[in-house]
Amino acid sequence: PTESANQAPLLIKRLLLSGVRYEKTREIVYRDLVRYNYATFNERVARLANALSEAGVKAGDTVAVMDWDSHRYLECMFAIPMIGAVLHTINIRLSADQILYTMNHAEDKFVLVNSEFVPLYKGIESQLTTVAKTILLTDAPEKTADIANLVGEYENLLAAASTKYDFPDFDENSVATTFYTTGTTGNPKGVYFTHRQLVLHTLAEASVLGSLDSVRLLGTSDVYMPITPMFHVHAWGIPYVATMLGVKQVYPGRYEPDMLCRLIREEKVTFSHCVPTILQMMLNAPSAQGYDFGGLKVIIGGSALNRALYEAAKARGIQLTAAYGMSETCPLISCGHINDELFAGSESERISYRIKAGVPVPLVEAAIMAADGSLLPADGETQGELVLRAPWLTMGYFNEPQKSAELWEHGWLHTGDVATLDDFGFIDIRDRIKDVIKTGGEWLSSLELEDLISRHPAVREVAVVGIADPQWGERPFALLVVREGQTLDARGLKEHLKPFVEQGSINKWAIPSQIALVTDIPKTSVGKLDKKRIRLDIAQWQAA
Ligand code: ADP
Repeated sequence: PTESANQAPLLIKRLLLSGVRYEKTREIVYRDLVRYNYATFNERVARLANALSEAGVKAGDTVAVMDWDSHRYLECMFAIPMIGAVLHTINIRLSADQILYTMNHAEDKFVLVNSEFVPLYKGIESQLTTVAKTILLTDAPEKTADIANLVGEYENLLAAASTKYDFPDFDENSVATTFYTTGTTGNPKGVYFTHRQLVLHTLAEASVLGSLDSVRLLGTSDVYMPITPMFHVHAWGIPYVATMLGVKQVYPGRYEPDMLCRLIREEKVTFSHCVPTILQMMLNAPSAQGYDFGGLKVIIGGSALNRALYEAAKARGIQLTAAYGMSETCPLISCGHINDELFAGSESERISYRIKAGVPVPLVEAAIMAADGSLLPADGETQGELVLRAPWLTMGYFNEPQKSAELWEHGWLHTGDVATLDDFGFIDIRDRIKDVIKTGGEWLSSLELEDLISRHPAVREVAVVGIADPQWGERPFALLVVREGQTLDARGLKEHLKPFVEQGSINKWAIPSQIALVTDIPKTSVGKLDKKRIRLDIAQWQAA
C-alpha cells in the first residue's frame, strides 16, 4: 500500500463502516412515519451524496440544514462531510435575524429546509448573500415549496439517485461541521470541527458510554433516541457513536412530550440525553403520568444536575448520569464515573458524586486557572476558571481572530466556568463566571443555591440571579415555579434554607430576600435557564 493509504485518515466515512457491518437489519426510526434498516441507511447516504453532487455541491462548500431531529438529519451528518463539504447545523430556535446572521457568516451555499421552516426562510431569503440552491425536506404529501432556487424535494432526489458513491479519502484535518454558539452576549459565534476531531470524539465517547460507570450506558443492544437537538453540538455527538456501534436509533422530530413518551414506550428506548429542563418537562407531561420509564438511562448535561431532579427521575425509573461540555468542546469533556473507592460509600455520597460534572473522559486534560494564567491546585477546594485541552476542541471562532485568541489564551481553552477539581479528577462546576453572585464580599454560586432551593417539596423549577444591592454589592433573587396547588413565600424559603446555613453549606447572605412566583422561567434556544434574559427583565418581577 502507498504511504497515504496505510495512514488511513480519520474520516467520518469510517464511522459508517462498522455499524453497517455489524447490524444490517437493525432499525432507524423516525416518529411513527419512517422505519428502515442500516443497509438502507447506507444506501441512502450514498444516494444523498449523489443528489448533492448533482446539485453542484463541491468539497469545501458549506451545506446548511434546517430541520428537527430526523433520519434525514442523520443522513446529512454523514453524507455532507463524507463528500468533503461542511455541514452547518442551523439553530432553528434562534431569532430569524440571528439565523440570517449565522447563514451569511458561515457562507452557506446550499440549504436543506424543512417545510415547517419555509415561512421563516422566505422571510430572510432576499437577504442571504451566499446561498445558491435549496432542497426541501418534508413529511407532507405536497413535495414542493415556493422558495428560490429549489433543486427539488429530498425524497424525490434520493429516489432518482444511485445507491453507489465512491467516497474519496482526503485530509483528516478538513472541516466537517460548523454551528453557532447560542450567543448569550452579542452575535452568535461560529465553532468548527474537523473529521479527525469528530472521529476521535466518537471513539472516546463510545468508550465512556460503554464502560466508565457501573452501568453500560450505550451498548449494541440498546435503543437510542436523542432529546438534545441535532443542531446543538451534534446532539452531543451521540448519533455518530450510535451509528458506529450499529445501535437501533429513534428520531422524534419536533420535541412534543406526548410523542417522546410514546416513542420511548413503543420503540423500547433505553438510552437518551437532554438538558435538565427538558427532562423536567417530560416528567410533568400528562401522557407520562403514572408511567414508569423502566430503567431508561439518560445523560444530563448542558446545565447542572441537581439532587432533587436526580431523585425525582429515579422514582420514575430513570437513571441519570451527569456530563459536562460546551459548544466549543464538540462537546464531551467529562462524564459521571464512580470508581471502587467511591462505590464503597453510602448511596447518598454516591449521589453527590453522580450529580457533579464527572471526570474528564479519555484524552481530555482539565485544569483550574487563576486570572493571571497560573494553574491552581486540584484539591477539591480551590476555585478558578476551568480550562481544557483535548484533541477535539474548536480551534477558534470562525472569522473572529480576537475572540479566538481570548478563547485560547495561555494555550488552554477557556470555558468561562468557575470550578474545582479534586484528586479523583472530579470537576465540580460552581457557576458560570458571569452568573456568580458577589454578596457581602463573598462569591455565591447560583447553581448551589438553586440545588438547595429545588429540594423544597413545593418547588418545581428555580433560577437564581444576582441583583444590585447598595449595601451588599449583590443579593440573590429567586424566580420560582411551584407545583400545582402549592405555594411558597420568602419566609417559607428562608425556613427551608436555614438548616443549610446552620450546617455551614451557605452563609446567611445566600438566603434570597426577594422571590417571585412565575408560571414559566425564560429559557434559551436549547432549553436552559436564560439568566441573561432574567437579569434584563428583573424589574418586572421585582415590581410584582
Ligand atoms: P450556552 O453557553 O449557550 O448554554 P453551551 O451549550 O455551549 O452554550 O453551554 C455550555 C455551558 O453549559 C458550560 O460552559 C457550563 O456553564 C454549562 N454546563 C454544561 N454542562 C454542565 C454541567 N454538567 N454542570 C454545570 N454546568 C454545565
